[in-house]
Amino acid sequence: MDPTYAAGLVWLRRDLRLADNAALFHALKACRQVHCAFLFDTALPATLPRQDRRVEFIHDAVLALDERLRELAGAGLLVLHGTAAEEIPRLASELGVQAVFANHDDEPYAAERDVAVRTALEQVGVALHTSKDQVLFERRGGIDAGGKALLRLHPVQPGLAGEAGRFLREGVSGGALCGPVGEGAASGARAGRPGLRADQPARPSPGRGEAGAHALLEDFLPRLDRYDALRDLPAVKGPSYPGVHLRFGTVSIRQLARLARERSSSGAATWLKELAWRDFYFRVLANFPQVGRGESFKPEYDRIAWAQGALADEHFAAWCEGRTGYPLVDAAMLQLNRTGYMHNRLRMVTASFLCKDLGIDWRRGERYFAEKLNDYDLAANNGGWQWASSSGCDAQPYFRIFNPVSQSERFDAEGKFIVRYLPQLAKLPPKAIHAPWEAGVPVDYPPPIVDHAQAREETLRRYAVVKG
Ligand SMILES: Cc1cc2nc3c(=O)[nH]c(=O)nc-3n(C[C@H](O)[C@H](O)[C@H](O)COP(=O)(O)OP(=O)(O)OC[C@H]3O[C@@H](n4cnc5c(N)ncnc54)[C@H](O)[C@@H]3O)c2cc1C
Repeated sequence: MDPTYAAGLVWLRRDLRLADNAALFHALKACRQVHCAFLFDTALPATLPRQDRRVEFIHDAVLALDERLRELAGAGLLVLHGTAAEEIPRLASELGVQAVFANHDDEPYAAERDVAVRTALEQVGVALHTSKDQVLFERRGGIDAGGKALLRLHPVQPGLAGEAGRFLREGVSGGALCGPVGEGAASGARAGRPGLRADQPARPSPGRGEAGAHALLEDFLPRLDRYDALRDLPAVKGPSYPGVHLRFGTVSIRQLARLARERSSSGAATWLKELAWRDFYFRVLANFPQVGRGESFKPEYDRIAWAQGALADEHFAAWCEGRTGYPLVDAAMLQLNRTGYMHNRLRMVTASFLCKDLGIDWRRGERYFAEKLNDYDLAANNGGWQWASSSGCDAQPYFRIFNPVSQSERFDAEGKFIVRYLPQLAKLPPKAIHAPWEAGVPVDYPPPIVDHAQAREETLRRYAVVKG
């Protein structure tokens, strides 16, 4: 069958890879020639600082894509700086393409941006085709308005994971790919090497881009079958760490689901379930966009009067800086501040501590995580915070309140994770590490800023407004 279009443009966004990329796959099927572009969007609402780890990750992924496209097609990636509604239609016109291909993005900013781009493209007679790519399941439906999660998280249907093979086999041959039309041909595009700034490195760092995601998976696969046993222990290398790669699409979720399905172990089944949680929160955001605008999923939780004023601000600063006096909470916050990563168990413990021990609005914690997490993702972060504060879809009941000391005893029994970030506690016997104030040994570490038992009572009173 003849391709529908003479030429098309693939606009890469949160899908910075060539393998198993739905937009690229459809463009290569539909067009005789395919150009690929990436836009550094200057209209992004929360523009990240230049030295941000996530900006570096994106730069590296863009460099790696450019290199790979040059190898495959002899020409690289078109890189733009500006606003999407101006730059994408301008590039499409200058390249003379008839269609632009991209993948769905349901974050509120992206959804609005895509409406504007679609309208602007229509005005120059170019079609915009978008596809499901970030998630396993289609985005609409599956969760009813009462918040019941009809999408039961597993099993993932075999057909969905099978798509990965199809895209990988048929997707990128290089034949139809072409690069920049020449220096200066597209005025907005920095043709040639990706339009990175002079102080950016010329080669991607190891561990980044598609190759980085691949290496990470190679490292994880021998541990996959024990994932269920190890994933909850922050001191050991139990998690799979694909978060940042999934965030920027340097690995395909279908590929991960397929890998999980190929194994029949309980570890693989648990991993698939975790991947499905990601899908679940994407779906919550797509169907209930108000959660992305700061509203509680369960509106009655917006009646809660959160702690405010100087003491709450002091408590919030202590939480951010890892000075609450609860070692597991503090070590977790130091892990976040120093590395941009925090273990899943610790995200739950620290989030619960902020809302239910300090009585501080979950939205403050959500914003702090958004600033610090390498794998920050609006849907998953919001879902995690609303879970911890009990205001979300499928959240933990409000009267279930994590005890930061027993969480520590259970998940970091020997205190190995804690002393990695709080080495001054290493001189305590392991049992005393979880509550140093009880040990009677002088250590350079603050006393707890709140008493957990009292805080718990206060929280139950605070949350009483959600009843009825
Ligand atoms: C308060 C809070 C905030 C969070 N913020 C984010 C965030 O900004 N971005 C983010 O990707 N995840 C977030 N999570 C979910 C989860 O903690 C991380 O996905 C996980 O810790 C990342 O570690 P990992 O990449 O080693 O993956 P693993 O722990 O090995 O899990 C594999 C993958 O499954 C997915 N996943 C696992 N658990 C969840 C979950 N509960 N919700 C959604 N996806 C999940 C992720 O894509 C993850 O990369 C948050 C959880 C909480 C409680």
